[in-house]
Amino acid sequence: MGDEHVHDAHAILEHFKIQEGIFSDFYKMHERETLGAFIESLNGIKTLFELADRRFRCINERTPGGLHAAGPVILMDEEKGLKMLEKARADGIYSHAGCGAAGLAFAKLSEADRRFFVNSDNYGAFYAKAIAKKAGIPYKGHLQVEPHFHVARMAIYDGSGCFDNSIAKLKVVGLPPAFVISRRYHSESENAMIEASIAATIATGDHGFGGLIKADKTPFVLLVIGGRYSKEFSLSKLMTEAEEVAKGFKGKVIVDGFVAPF
Ligand SMILES: [Zn+2]
Repeated sequence: MGDEHVHDAHAILEHFKIQEGIFSDFYKMHERETLGAFIESLNGIKTLFELADRRFRCINERTPGGLHAAGPVILMDEEKGLKMLEKARADGIYSHAGCGAAGLAFAKLSEADRRFFVNSDNYGAFYAKAIAKKAGIPYKGHLQVEPHFHVARMAIYDGSGCFDNSIAKLKVVGLPPAFVISRRYHSESENAMIEASIAATIATGDHGFGGLIKADKTPFVLLVIGGRYSKEFSLSKLMTEAEEVAKGFKGKVIVDGFVAPF
């Protein structure tokens, strides 16, 4: 156990360092208020707004592609979860191994239910299957994730509803791995803000980069995508929500943003 921990610390530091070049540039541009314009001008940025499918996955950077909500949708009322799936025209749902959101939901179950499901992985898969059935969409399976810690220093707060965080696509464009919160399909800001807060909590905690995320020096980036033709999901409106989330992290989370290409 101890050895594994040391090994992890080493691997976590490696993942952090690999992204240092990108993030030191991001921090400088954030200071000069040019980060949003820079991202808008990236070659191939439009390809990041063409989803290959509309299946829901967790907000996790290790469950990339498609649409995203914590769990997915395990932390909201069932009614809200179903509404979100409908609003997004979701065509499938995945659960995943080691889901932190499923862990939070599992902890809130009665003791009898916890005994029945044994662990949060079983509960996460059960919940995804059950809500898929109610929504009339297919359950697509329980995703295995690699590595078993989080490697994202950024979360996307997506007002466009079509940002694709597939690893290969991000790499081509030159963006780092990122959590995605599909803000566009939340009928109210509250649940989306909770999810952004969970992403930042994970990244700055023991399952993510922990102490490597430092206030002012190496903060986590909450990157907002404003909808181009939308008042409801405009950049300024969503930036205000993200700023509100960041306040709770005492300088460890910074907010920036850009407008979707279409
Ligand atoms: Zn998860």
